[in-house]
Amino acid sequence: MLIDKEKCVGCGNCVPVCAMGVISVVNGRSQVNQDECVECNSCYRTLRSEGLSPTFVRAVRWVLRLFHLEYDAPPDVCPTGALTPPKLEWPRVLRSEFSDPTVKHSSTGLGGRGTEEIKCNDVTGRLKEGEIGFAVELGRPGLGARFLDLQKVAMALAKAGVFFEPKNPVTHLMTDTKTGALREEILNEKVMSAIIECRADAGRVPEIFAALRRVAGEIESVISAAIAARCGPDGSVPYLDMAREAGFTLSLNGKTNIGLGRPRFEERQQAA
Ligand code: SF4
Ligand code: SF4
Repeated sequence: MLIDKEKCVGCGNCVPVCAMGVISVVNGRSQVNQDECVECNSCYRTLRSEGLSPTFVRAVRWVLRLFHLEYDAPPDVCPTGALTPPKLEWPRVLRSEFSDPTVKHSSTGLGGRGTEEIKCNDVTGRLKEGEIGFAVELGRPGLGARFLDLQKVAMALAKAGVFFEPKNPVTHLMTDTKTGALREEILNEKVMSAIIECRADAGRVPEIFAALRRVAGEIESVISAAIAARCGPDGSVPYLDMAREAGFTLSLNGKTNIGLGRPRFEERQQAA
């Protein structure tokens, strides 16, 4: 995000609405730490522009000060419209694609950080019997994640024997899906969060958990992992014991597809 120094009147309204805490007011003008800004546009979307003339606002403030009064803009506005979303070039545009939910990925044409694959398995058929899917998310508002850390996690997962989801936007940024290596020029780019999606044979799950635990200590962000699998015919969930044995606590925030979609039907047709 850019701030027009000529227009900014230093009211400070943009400081608390920044999702990453990277705006500060210095010498009566706000400024953005460009290295840490993830181009999420939250500040721009949250604060409507009042479109006031900066000269007018400064003059009103000057007059009010004579009477020991203050001018405070309403908290939901940038009084002069000084916040200016820049036209982003590669690779910085990735910040916006991963951090602003209104922007679509140029690689996949989809918005958001991951894909619908893991959530809609009864339609996509991505996970087969005997496979486990992982959605490994790095970053959070106020913290973010750099692609360098995403690469570390992807490489650790690759060594543990996963296959990366081809429609996922992080996979699109890999130069080698066997190693999880990402494009060199993007490694310092920072995003609010991003999700690596992959799948593996269920037998590899302990190795994958161990890899996640190891690499979590090597990155400057946080990891949260979601796992998915087809339930057994008796309704059992195959990964529960593996996760507990690996020392992970599973939240009860789960989603269950009931299997009315196409692949199950097709598989039955093929088997018949
Ligand atoms: S809200 Fe607008 S005028 Fe106020 S400090 Fe931020 S950029 Fe400057
Ligand atoms: S674009 Fe996002 S990270 Fe950048 S200054 Fe605005 S709210 Fe903060």
